[in-house]
Amino acid sequence: MKDQFGRSIDYLRISVTDKCNLRCAYCMPVEGLPWIPRADLLSYEEIAEVVSQMAGLGLRRVRLTGGEPLVRKDLPDLVSLIRGVEAIEEISLSTNAVLLDGFAEDLRAAGVDRLNISLDTLRRERFAELGRRPDRFFDATMVGIAAAERAGFSPLKINVVVMRGFNDDELEDFAALTRERPWHVRFIELMPTEDNLFLSDRFISADELLGRLHAQADLEPVEGPVGNGPATYFRLPDARGTVGVITPLSHNYCNKCNRMRLTADGRLRTCLFGTHEVDLKGPLRETGSVTAAVAEALAGKPERHFLRIGTASGSGGLSALSQVGG
Ligand code: SAM
Ligand code: SF4
Repeated sequence: MKDQFGRSIDYLRISVTDKCNLRCAYCMPVEGLPWIPRADLLSYEEIAEVVSQMAGLGLRRVRLTGGEPLVRKDLPDLVSLIRGVEAIEEISLSTNAVLLDGFAEDLRAAGVDRLNISLDTLRRERFAELGRRPDRFFDATMVGIAAAERAGFSPLKINVVVMRGFNDDELEDFAALTRERPWHVRFIELMPTEDNLFLSDRFISADELLGRLHAQADLEPVEGPVGNGPATYFRLPDARGTVGVITPLSHNYCNKCNRMRLTADGRLRTCLFGTHEVDLKGPLRETGSVTAAVAEALAGKPERHFLRIGTASGSGGLSALSQVGG
């Protein structure tokens, strides 16, 4: 699948639900959002059918995300269905790990290759404040991460959204973890959406945070782990893992974009922050085929996003990343 700017699109991020068991302040309002009606959710069979038809057009890798993908019932069943699509070379999952203890082994057995875990703080009380859930959710997350390692998910990628005055005093703690553990800790710039602008003074550019880390320790640039991501990686002396930065705002990487997003209600979204979407659910349910709709989406994929620091203009009216899978 080539778009009009010559980019090869072989990666699909699939949001399996817009619901979540946390309420991360930068992502979702505490009362939640108007959820997608059940009848509008793609079934697992429908998702697998979309993957299969897109695989025929060149899709090779998928990531399951959400909302929180593990709150949707029987997620390993979806993994098995996608595993059955021969051309798909890699299946990965993004999760907050709260429910991972109960699922890690089944996910591995069903065919998940890699896990990305979101963990923005190592401190229990901060976790509760950010996620707006009781302390035990932090404990569950830690147990979930341990279960993932036991199940053989290695190396883990740990995603940390950095917020000034909230968790930016933990950069060194996160970096220090990579000395003992083979984790790839990736610091992500906070992205503005319609609903989280109150956080805009918390934005920290990756250049600033790398400057702070360089001041603390020698960071050597290194090749990153395999994956689809746009991160830049560094290693502390003798560390087993790496630290990376993902810079959607300060240095966008749209020219290397390789992806599209499928929302839980079957819209193919061609840019995280854009308004361009093509409905796949209608054609799938009416004709059984999505290939024409996928071609239409590909032809309209925009060149880049127009997000700017401190304003949601350019966010395409997106109120939360949970609605499109981040
Ligand atoms: N619930 C899963 C999780 O948290 O990993 C998957 C969905 S979540 C929307 C995917 C990623 O988007 C997470 O790493 C989360 O931290 C990130 N995210 C959500 N809102 C964000 C924002 N405003 N800025 C930067 N990252 C954000
Ligand atoms: Fe849920 Fe993930 Fe959004 Fe946090 S970032 S509220 S865990 S969807």
